Amino acid sequence: MDPIIEYFTDMNPAHRSLILVGGLTMFWMIESAVPLFSFRYNKWRHALTNIFFTLTTIIVNFTMAFILVQASFWVVENNFGIIQWIPMPMWLYALVGLLLLDLIGAWLVHFVEHKVKWMWQFHLIHHTDQHVDTTTANRHHPGESVFRFVFTTMAVIIVGTPMWIVFLYQTLSVVLTQFNHSNVKMPAWLDNALVLVICTPNMHRVHHHYRMPYTDSNYGNIFSFWDRLFGTYVVAENEKLVYGVDTHMSKEETQDIVTMLKIPFRKYRPHHDYDKEEVL
Ligand SMILES: [Zn+2]
Repeated sequence: MDPIIEYFTDMNPAHRSLILVGGLTMFWMIESAVPLFSFRYNKWRHALTNIFFTLTTIIVNFTMAFILVQASFWVVENNFGIIQWIPMPMWLYALVGLLLLDLIGAWLVHFVEHKVKWMWQFHLIHHTDQHVDTTTANRHHPGESVFRFVFTTMAVIIVGTPMWIVFLYQTLSVVLTQFNHSNVKMPAWLDNALVLVICTPNMHRVHHHYRMPYTDSNYGNIFSFWDRLFGTYVVAENEKLVYGVDTHMSKEETQDIVTMLKIPFRKYRPHHDYDKEEVL
């Protein structure tokens, strides 16, 4: 455990950027070699929009990072939070820390964003992508990056996580989100095995289907347990999926950066009603 603790305690900022860019490059190569959907799109043009929103996410997180660091120092110094209160071996301490950060900092905030109208207005920019691939992973409106940051900080306080677990969590979180958004066709046996523990592309893609009730399912990022536990786990045939959000399908709303930045401040549009429930 010691080398892991040491590495993540003082994680080199250059390594953090390298993991983000390295992960993106690796999944880009894999999805280009074995894609699930053969999209007819300009992959570079599409990536540019998503990279813009990834950069704004990085800027928001970088600007506010000192709050997260202070919160983590405070909980350790004051023995505050779930993992500080319950004595346990180091490996279990790390595992429980990761599980709970994923629950509050990813699953819960994502669930809330789908249920609270004004938050959905921000999150839907992530969903308007009609060509989901690994670059979609961090396509977040800057407003959404702020809520996600707030939930992560809350999670650090409730869970009582030291910085090394926060960095370990953020590293896994970035790689997993790039993985589960990638347009890769994976053998069923591999997906079926992985999805027992982690969120796979087959699982997460269902969440990007343009129609309800599929949009409100499979909220997880790292671990697949939370959706099973809270009854939001849905299986669907991936080949039949259509990406996007039924209420925002125009070209400008799905591709134009300035239009997308303004969407949260426009009137809320409810999802369409359907005569018969679509079954995939
Ligand atoms: Zn979502």
